[in-house]
Amino acid sequence: MAETLRTVVVDGLALAEEIRKELAEAVGRHRAAGRRAPCLAVVLVGDDPASASYIKGKRRACERVGMDSTQHELPATATREQVLEVVRRCNAEPGVDGILVQLPLPRGIDANEITRTIDPAKDVDGLTPESAGRLLLGLPSLLPCTPAGIMKILERYSIPLEGARAVVIGRSNIVGKPIALLLQRANATVSMCHSRTRDLRGLCREADILIAAAGVPRLVRGDWVKPGAAVIDVGVSEVDGVLTGDVDTEGVQGIARIVTPHRRGVGPMTITMLLQNTLRAYELRLRA
Ligand code: NAD
Repeated sequence: MAETLRTVVVDGLALAEEIRKELAEAVGRHRAAGRRAPCLAVVLVGDDPASASYIKGKRRACERVGMDSTQHELPATATREQVLEVVRRCNAEPGVDGILVQLPLPRGIDANEITRTIDPAKDVDGLTPESAGRLLLGLPSLLPCTPAGIMKILERYSIPLEGARAVVIGRSNIVGKPIALLLQRANATVSMCHSRTRDLRGLCREADILIAAAGVPRLVRGDWVKPGAAVIDVGVSEVDGVLTGDVDTEGVQGIARIVTPHRRGVGPMTITMLLQNTLRAYELRLRA
C-alpha cells in the first residue's frame, strides 16, 4: 500500500516571530550605540477599513521591534498633488527611512505615479521602477515584501529550489512577477500563469513548488498538486464574511510536502519583511 505523506502546515507566525526577535535585537544594538531608531512613514489615503486595519498592524509591528513610525492620513477626496506632496515630504525628511503608501488608493489617483515618486532608498515595499528594475537585473535591492517572505518560508522549510519546477499563479507587480524572478534567480525553472493560461491544472500538477496568488478562493484543489510539492497560498478573499485562500488546504493534506495556511501563513511574513526592509534601508542610509 502506498504510504501517505504527512503534510507539514507552515507556521508563518512562528517564523515571523523568530525573525522579528532578530530585528528587535539589531534595533537594540543601534539604540545602545546612541543612534536613533529606524522609522517607517505610512501614508493612508481615504477611509477603507481594511487599509486602516493593515496600517494599524504594520505600525504595531514596528513598535514591537523598537522601530518608530509616523502616519500621514489624507481624506478620500485628496488630490493627486496632495498625495505626491506628502510622499515628497517623507522623501526629504532625514529621520524617515522607509515609506509605505497603503494600496489600493482611491479612484482617480494613479498608484503607479505615487509609487514612482518614492525615493528608491526608502522604497521598503520594493515597488518603484528602480527596485523592480534592479530585481530584474539581479542587482541588490529592497525586495517586495510578500515574495521576500515566501522565499524565507521556502528556505526555512528546506525546500530545494535549484532545478525545481515552479509554477506561479498570478502575474501582478506585487506578487506574481517578483516571486517568479526570485525563484528563477534561485535556479528554479519557472512558469508564470494567469487568467488566460490554458490547462492551469495540468501545469500545476508538474510543479515542485506551487505559488497561488490569483485571489480566487480555493482555486487549487488536491488533484492540482504533485505529490511532495511545496504549496504556498498567497490569496486572501472574503467568502460570506470568512477569509479564504487560493488553496483548498484540507484537500492538499497527504499530497503536498508543505502548505501555508491562509491565516498564519504568508501574511505575518509579509509584515516582517517590511520591518526587515526598513532596517535595511536605515542601515544603508547610515553608511551613505
Ligand atoms: P492581482 O489581482 O493584482 O493579480 C491576480 C493575478 O492572478 C492576475 O495576474 C491574474 O491574471 C491572475 N488570475 C486571476 N484569476 C485567475 C485564474 N482563475 N487562474 C489563473 N490566474 C488567475 O492580485 P495580487 O495583488 O497579486 O494578489 C493576489 C492575491 O494575494 C489576492 O488575494 C491578495 O489579496 C493576496 N495577497 C496577499 C498578501 C499576503 O500578505 N498574504 C499580500 C499580497 C497579496
